Amino acid sequence: YIRVIFLLTILSGYSQEKNTDKKVDDLLKKMTLNEKIGQLNQYSGFWDFTGPVPKDGDAAKKYQDIKSGLVGAMLNVKGVKNIYKLQKIAVEETRLGIPLLFGYDIIHGYKTISPIPLAESASWDLLAIQKSAEIAAEEAAAAGINWTFAPMIDVTRDARWGRVMEGAGEDTFLGIKIAEARIKGFQGNLSSNKNIIACAKHFAGYGFAEAGKEYNTVDVSNETLQNIIFPPFKAAVAAGVRSFMNSFNQLNGIPATGNKYLQRDILKGAWDFQGFVVSDWGSIKELVTHGYAKDNIHAAEIAINAGSDMDMESNVYIKYLNDLVKNGKVNESTIDDAVRRVLKVKFELGLFENPYKYCDEAYEKATIGKPEFQEGVLDMAKKSIVLLKNEINLLPLKKSGQKIALIGALANDKNSPLGNWRLAADDHSAISVLEGLQKYKGNQLTYAKGADVIVGETRFAKEVKVNTTDKTGFEEAIATAKNANVVIMVLGENGFQSGEGRSRTDIGLPGVQQELLEAVYAVNKNIVLVLNNGRPLAFPWAAEHVPAIVEAWQLGTQSGNAIAEVLYGDYNPSGKLTMTFPRNVGQLPIYYNYKSTGRPMQEKDPDVVFWSHYIDEKDNPLYPFGYGLSYSKFEYSNIQLDKISFSENGNIKVSVDLKNNSEIIGKEVVQLYIRDLVGSFARPVKELKGFEMVELKPFESKTITFIINQKTIEFYTANSKWEAEPGDFKVFVGGNSEATLEADFQYLK
Ligand code: BGC
Repeated sequence: YIRVIFLLTILSGYSQEKNTDKKVDDLLKKMTLNEKIGQLNQYSGFWDFTGPVPKDGDAAKKYQDIKSGLVGAMLNVKGVKNIYKLQKIAVEETRLGIPLLFGYDIIHGYKTISPIPLAESASWDLLAIQKSAEIAAEEAAAAGINWTFAPMIDVTRDARWGRVMEGAGEDTFLGIKIAEARIKGFQGNLSSNKNIIACAKHFAGYGFAEAGKEYNTVDVSNETLQNIIFPPFKAAVAAGVRSFMNSFNQLNGIPATGNKYLQRDILKGAWDFQGFVVSDWGSIKELVTHGYAKDNIHAAEIAINAGSDMDMESNVYIKYLNDLVKNGKVNESTIDDAVRRVLKVKFELGLFENPYKYCDEAYEKATIGKPEFQEGVLDMAKKSIVLLKNEINLLPLKKSGQKIALIGALANDKNSPLGNWRLAADDHSAISVLEGLQKYKGNQLTYAKGADVIVGETRFAKEVKVNTTDKTGFEEAIATAKNANVVIMVLGENGFQSGEGRSRTDIGLPGVQQELLEAVYAVNKNIVLVLNNGRPLAFPWAAEHVPAIVEAWQLGTQSGNAIAEVLYGDYNPSGKLTMTFPRNVGQLPIYYNYKSTGRPMQEKDPDVVFWSHYIDEKDNPLYPFGYGLSYSKFEYSNIQLDKISFSENGNIKVSVDLKNNSEIIGKEVVQLYIRDLVGSFARPVKELKGFEMVELKPFESKTITFIINQKTIEFYTANSKWEAEPGDFKVFVGGNSEATLEADFQYLK
């Protein structure tokens, strides 16, 4: 019976797909070449469309083009009123009435803001991450949006790059799981009006910009591309993501937007992606500045032929594709293929049946900012916090009888916790740390700013670089600290110091915050340092001196509440870093799954000079990938393998004992890593291959098991395919990437 149901489900999915394909083909037959090209044209529209029809300028042109059926999608249109207005024109005033897609950067929430994606990834909690994407989708959908430009699934290894805040960190395996969770959360059931289509971006290599400088050249080996960069994208296709965005960067000499290998051979070829590819903003035109196309006409020709289906804001498809088809530079079948992909998604979203599916003003009003969303983002925020240090048990804070000094501009900042990419959120709408802590009435709380982070406040990248030099607030901060039992210092980055266009060469605490920290420490060593930042920072002095450190990122709307609950122990932190924290910017790029040099450090022989290292800095990171503490005390022991070798179709069961040796219930992310000792491509010293979140009661123990099979050890080999190579392996289990419990096993052919 179950088998029959299963078969019927598959068959009905298949026939639905055939049905959609037929509808797409029928429509395509009716379309003129210009109407087809229109479907490949996407415009941005920030302005208000609800007033009188714009008479001139950019707005008037776009408005007119929609009316003429020359636009397939918009982005940045805000609110149901505006979206309804434009959709109505597309549906009722154009010849074929094809509905528009409305895209928006719902990166971590629409109006109710969840933690930045890097922070969410630190939860390692896939269900929570999925839920967070569901909330974002539901709220955005209520505002008329049907397409998010998320998730960003670029693997990132260089904290200088400001967009590390948007991703899931440095690991491919974890990146795959998180990409799947986010796509599931956004897309869920596309026939409902609570889900929207997702966009896997940026394809590909964008996270590997040289020197962490935004938009910079990317030059990586095919091996890195295949083993590190591609897998989350491939997984996104398998997870049914409906759109891809290409990227601004060149990849090994060819800009991604004009890169046929990426878009045609890999994405639409090898991976059989059936959705559509949108260019990044203006990236088709940028083929000219890259020195890859001689002018905009040439750029349009290269991009469409390379597989970029939709033109976001270069305006070159709409201008030149018609001529390019007529003079034979572009085949009409290439246009047809691109249009088919776009139309198919519109059918799948149900927009032809009901173009106003997302356009209900009353529903919008009732949905945006719903209390359930607030609860959801609070939960996500707590799960994203990483406890880095808690040496003299300053944390959790005692609930009464304490004088607490709270210091730092970020402690009283309601804007920075929203992070970058929160286009629809109200400015200053986050709960600050000060507000969060004020809810705990038992202690005496005194706030002193100490120093600002930056001068003024602005969204625009070129102005954010101005760190403050003003130290006039130091005196008050020092006096406040002197008197306190505990000093909480909230330091880090302004919310606009990370994100697109925000590369930094110095990833220490910006401005005079380091000086402030040291000045306060001189009068009171009982400091809890709470970090608010959009990227890993280097703070070696604090890591050595300050007794307690909490990584609290930019946690969104509920930031202050989440931080207060963690500081007071009403929530026991369980987050783990997903990017390595360096000691020094000079170590970048730094990541746990590096490859051994021919001269690794020899512990036995510390006097050897010529091993791979720096002469002015330690080699190891400040905090490794996977690292994070808890108020519970977890102890690992007794790694066991049920056998020492396996072959095709076989497996090995790895088990380890985990004990909560404390009186506090807590959660731990147990991590499994492997090392392939010899490979046809040299393999990383360690690779994450499994993890499990385990909750343990006080003094409870559990045995955790993982399965290692052929899948676990497969990689893209020198044979140019994914396969498992026979040989010797090590397995490591523990609470971070420096896990020390290890055992050996073999894979036999
Ligand atoms: C970014 C994309 C984003 C797009 C639309 C670009 O600058 O690179 O990630 O989706 O703008 O806002």
